[in-house]
Amino acid sequence: MFADKFRLDGRVAVVTGGGQGIGLSCVQALAEFGARVVIADISMEIGRKGQDRMRELGHEVDLRQLDVTCSEDVEALARELVATYGKVDILVANAGIARSGVAAEDVTDEHWLAVNDVNYNGVFWCNRAFARDMLARGSGAIVNIGSMSGIISNRPQKQTYYNAAKAAVHQMTSSLGAEWADRGVRVNAVAPTYIETEMTMYRHDNDGMIDVWLRDTPMHRMGRPDEIASVVHFLACDASSLMTGTTVVADAGFTCW
Ligand code: NDP
Repeated sequence: MFADKFRLDGRVAVVTGGGQGIGLSCVQALAEFGARVVIADISMEIGRKGQDRMRELGHEVDLRQLDVTCSEDVEALARELVATYGKVDILVANAGIARSGVAAEDVTDEHWLAVNDVNYNGVFWCNRAFARDMLARGSGAIVNIGSMSGIISNRPQKQTYYNAAKAAVHQMTSSLGAEWADRGVRVNAVAPTYIETEMTMYRHDNDGMIDVWLRDTPMHRMGRPDEIASVVHFLACDASSLMTGTTVVADAGFTCW
């Protein structure tokens, strides 16, 4: 009985920014548990690499090009996927950019708007578009990728624009979770610590940065994408059926200090 709650056979899932990093690991986790998964990435090149990697692991996943900042394209993709597969049961709103390292007083309008457009607006466009069919069917699970940066202020790198956008994702998750709770659609978020992906490669260009990160982390290590994908899978499957509107922190203890 309990093992069945973790299965996703017959479910259709879409993962934005699913071509690499945390998103690709989510694709793998959902596929391993039986879901039909669609990678929706801004880059077809990265998406194809992710698709090939999944094929090597024995998972046939589908691929669509999507820029989450374009609400019309998000709406169109949601309609197309429902027409193609009959439904979308799971959305992982994962696409994000960091552009870390710019002091607040130096941030340009373009920089602020670009980060918020992907990390905040894009998450809402996806939640709104994919929830529509879920609400009509009375069933669905959405997992938004927030960040511990929505709870703490990172150091030494400056990134107010990113931190503020991620805090907004957590609040959006809570509000949407409450709004859709009695209509069968659950909305939860994950707030990861520093994870070893392309996004955090800039640590190698900044002397001593990684030392500060690890010193501030009780486990004294970064996380791996699969350690976030496991939490995403849990929130996407029936094992978390009583959970909505919550942000699960997976941060190696970072927010304890
Ligand atoms: P990556 O940069 O490795 O992957 C992000 C993916 O999203 C890339 O394939 C990227 O494509 C794609 N993407 C970027 N912009 C868009 C867009 N407008 N529409 C669709 N896809 C897009 O990042 P991570 O895997 O590290 O991050 C995934 C999520 O996890 C993000 O939301 C991030 O903020 C969050 N997170 C990451 C942490 C970390 O330490 N890595 C910590 C906490 C949260 P392209 O490369 O072409 O831009």
